Amino acid sequence: DPRLEKIAAAIRVIPDFPKPGILFQDITTLLLDTKAFRDTIDMFVERYRDQNVNVVAGVEARGFIFGPPIALAIGAKFVPMRKPNKLPGEVISEEYSLEYGTDKMEMHVGAVQPGERALIIDDLIATGGTLGAAIKLLERVGVHVVECACVIELPELKGREKLGGKPLFVLVKGG
Ligand code: IMP
Repeated sequence: DPRLEKIAAAIRVIPDFPKPGILFQDITTLLLDTKAFRDTIDMFVERYRDQNVNVVAGVEARGFIFGPPIALAIGAKFVPMRKPNKLPGEVISEEYSLEYGTDKMEMHVGAVQPGERALIIDDLIATGGTLGAAIKLLERVGVHVVECACVIELPELKGREKLGGKPLFVLVKGG
């Protein structure tokens, strides 16, 4: 797809952020490029519009940027998957491991119903721990996860293997 080259070019790579040795993929520059941003959303919408997806689950924080325009375009609801202690209502939570230590992801009870079909969206998959937790959280309440989607994959970190066999769709690869 000819749109992919411009999308990839619009992502800025910043060395040594947030720590020395990390090459940070910065999607804020993609958001400044109105054509590339629109193309990014369109490519996800084209893929999911006919898949009976009724939930777009966005992972904090950058899944909150890409998720809502996709949800509106395909006629799905948007559900935020948040860092701990941010959601005001009753939540269910899932712990997952980071490079050092653990983190938690939370979702509002009642936001989704058993049997619904979800797409999980985030900006980037690295080790896959974050998306893996999102899958578990949704599956625990009986939701069918159709696919995970990210703008960027860092393939060297083999995050795909942490998704329990769920398919992953990505637009560009980084590393
Ligand atoms: P994982 O759990 O190791 O797959 O890490 C993915 C999570 O970390 C996602 O929520 C990303 O937003 C964030 N992340 C990790 N590396 C980067 C990066 O280079 N750019 C932007 N986000 C990143």
